[in-house]
Amino acid sequence: MISGMLNIVLFGPPGAGKGTQSEKLIEKYGLTHLSTGDLFRKHLGEGTDLGKLARTYMDQGHLVPDQVVISMVEDKISTTKDSKGFIFDGFPRTTAQAEALDAMLISNGMKISGMIALDVPHEILKERIKERGKTSNRADDQNEEKVNTRIKVYLDETLPVAKYYEKQDKYTSINGVGGIDEIFEEISEVMDSY
Ligand code: ADP
Repeated sequence: MISGMLNIVLFGPPGAGKGTQSEKLIEKYGLTHLSTGDLFRKHLGEGTDLGKLARTYMDQGHLVPDQVVISMVEDKISTTKDSKGFIFDGFPRTTAQAEALDAMLISNGMKISGMIALDVPHEILKERIKERGKTSNRADDQNEEKVNTRIKVYLDETLPVAKYYEKQDKYTSINGVGGIDEIFEEISEVMDSY
């Protein structure tokens, strides 16, 4: 594996803009996007067993069990060849996932360059998700109670992942409120410092 790879964890609560910023990062840096939410939605659309299993959790706003997520990510990493690096979007979402990711990367001669966290107040997240729900066709975007569950799950289970990278001196937080391009510029500055 190439040690000059850029492997980024793009972090933030649901609705923080990870997907939007990932698209721009892929274009600028030529990285491979690995969004566990997108991968699950692809399985859902194709009606696979994995998709059917994931749906029961996703539709409620709960996390899919760690081992299911980890196996899917392992599969994606091992079948992606000649990548300049990965943008992990929506993964890792638990400390167990973060530990598994480190182990996976180490065994492939890779490592995480850094985590970039998008900071957005909860009230704004709720408004954004409500707006997205009008067109996203996502059951988990269309119900206020499910949105609240997702934010609670984020606070309880996902926020500790930021600490995990902070301890490794790999954590940078960015203001996720503002124009898409403005936020992207700030992310790019961090990327260029790696
Ligand atoms: P959002 O960031 O808006 O919540 P995602 O597309 O990242 O959207 O995730 C949608 C849903 O997919 C989550 O609520 C969860 O059920 C499931 N999911 C995605 N990634 C993970 C993960 N790493 N671990 C567990 N569940 C996940």
